[in-house]
Amino acid sequence: METVLVTGGCGYIGSHTCISLIERNYNVLVIDSLVNSHKDNYTKVKKILDKKGIDSRDKLRFIKGDLRNKDWLDDIFLQYFECQKPIKSVIHFAGLKSIVSSIKSPLEYWDTNISITLSLLSVMQKYRCFTIIFSSSASVYKTKRDGFYKESDFLEPSSPYGKTKLTIENILEDLVESDSKNEWRIANLRYFNPAGAHDSGLLGEHPKFQSLNLFPSIIDSLDGSQEKLLIFGKDWPTKDGTCIRDFIHVMDLAEAHIETLDYINKSKPQILILNVGTGKGKSVLEVINTFQEINQITLFYEYVDRRLGDQPIVVADNSLALKLLNWRPKRDLRDMCKDSFFSKKTI
Ligand code: NAD
Repeated sequence: METVLVTGGCGYIGSHTCISLIERNYNVLVIDSLVNSHKDNYTKVKKILDKKGIDSRDKLRFIKGDLRNKDWLDDIFLQYFECQKPIKSVIHFAGLKSIVSSIKSPLEYWDTNISITLSLLSVMQKYRCFTIIFSSSASVYKTKRDGFYKESDFLEPSSPYGKTKLTIENILEDLVESDSKNEWRIANLRYFNPAGAHDSGLLGEHPKFQSLNLFPSIIDSLDGSQEKLLIFGKDWPTKDGTCIRDFIHVMDLAEAHIETLDYINKSKPQILILNVGTGKGKSVLEVINTFQEINQITLFYEYVDRRLGDQPIVVADNSLALKLLNWRPKRDLRDMCKDSFFSKKTI
């Protein structure tokens, strides 16, 4: 089976996707600088596979390093090429991901997210690796009053983070434009709000940088690393005054990558853009109530001012993904709440 390079594969979504890739018999090489993750995640992926009776010894490998270092990356592609296990495709998760931090430190975001991608794409091209799935984001869209987004909607990111995502989409488009031999197979997956954890409880969302996203904040408020759970705004134009988001279980998202890889490899070379969400919006209060109810716990929360860069409603129109891929979300909000609490307790 071919080798898939998973950049940022020790991170939250990347580590969960590695499980699905190995289950589908791919050889996986993870490259991660560990700037926002722990090597532990790699060990945990191996442990989960072990428990399922899947031997990952020769199928999963991790190399630590910064993808901005092009010469070093070139050496890795060369090694794989020379030992006849060429890297045939890339799932590109690596990058910095906080909207709020990107507003405070735009240069760091532009440098990391763009430099990583340029280095990666040029090495891929050199070694004739023409398949890439890129982790884009719902933050590329221009805000719409109704908050429901389809792929053809206007793009106008409001944060430096979202702008880096759109710029990378544009770079990938330029690559396809220049591709007279029709070799590139590209998918930009625009994720909505990944949440939850692997149901083994062994793996979850444990970033090094504190995250202000809802699920990691809930977990932080439980273990005391955050005093109280903060709800950003109670006067949004929604049914209960809190923001509405499209939360998607991280394992459903992981599986979407495998089906996308399958789809782009079977179809004619192209650039595909897909929203990956459930198509259903849940408010922050609904999430908190479900979390309390399913896990039989009490969360202490406090309303604070609206957060920079937030919008009231962000929900995916996921009909294109449902139509093209052999995929649909199988898990609901209760699963996300249960699995993320279970992963907190187990770790
Ligand atoms: P994450 O921070 O857990 O994972 C990203 C990984 O990239 C980390 O392990 C980090 O160490 C690694 N990395 C960063 N800079 C690197 C570098 N220079 N070289 C090598 N590795 C580097 O984030 P995640 O939640 O798993 O997100 C994965 C991707 O999906 C990101 O690109 C993110 O922007 C995108 N995304 C995430 C969300 C979300 O809510 N989690 C939503 C939309 C899009």
